[in-house]
Amino acid sequence: MGALSDADRDLVEDLVVANHILFDQGVVDAFGHVSVRHDKRSDRYLLARNMAPAEVTRDDIVEFDLDSVPVNGDARAVYLERFIHGEIYRRRPDVMAVVHSHSPTVVPFSVVPNIKLRPVCHMSGFLGQGVPTFEIRDVVGEGSDLLIRSRELGAALAQSLGSALIVLMRGHGSTVVGETLRHAVYRAVYAEINARLQSESMRFGEPVIYLTPDEAAATFKNIETQIKRPWDLWKKRVSQAHAR
Ligand code: MN
Repeated sequence: MGALSDADRDLVEDLVVANHILFDQGVVDAFGHVSVRHDKRSDRYLLARNMAPAEVTRDDIVEFDLDSVPVNGDARAVYLERFIHGEIYRRRPDVMAVVHSHSPTVVPFSVVPNIKLRPVCHMSGFLGQGVPTFEIRDVVGEGSDLLIRSRELGAALAQSLGSALIVLMRGHGSTVVGETLRHAVYRAVYAEINARLQSESMRFGEPVIYLTPDEAAATFKNIETQIKRPWDLWKKRVSQAHAR
């Protein structure tokens, strides 16, 4: 067991499962990561060490402070972009989980300024009326590697996120937040699905009908009550895969 202080065992288990689900659902590949805020210390969070999410086990979870420094003397290699998590937890007390990914259908929406990712179906009301996009050039100019490799960049990303549930990152991917791990995972999966549906709709070349603000709010409220169903299904899939 790694150097975790007294985090809830079920929460750590859910974090492991979330890593596997996000791979199984095509949100992360060898890259991308998911974290959860510590259940007993709001100034700490849990995130896997530097590795592919599909391979994560309980022993791979590392505990960080909000400066994104590993605590308890844990010296294992960690993700370069961990500052995404620490700075969002610092700025958003309501956020309990964060998913960062490069999910492929979302990326095009980060690179065409006039095209906004917007909800086209009742499963993705959480997208509201379009989501913010983080432009790293506004912070560090035009020569960066686009990675959130410092607290400064993490804070700038958190500022772009504002009070939204997802922020796109130009030429890179997206970061999604939730009030629980399940909410963050659900939204990361459906951000990708909505991007696919929206791209398909736009391909017809005719104006697309998006959800109205009221429809987005109503569907969002409804789906929040159903979040257990997809989680249980997705968990079952990865449990069977890991049992083989
Ligand atoms: Mn990244």
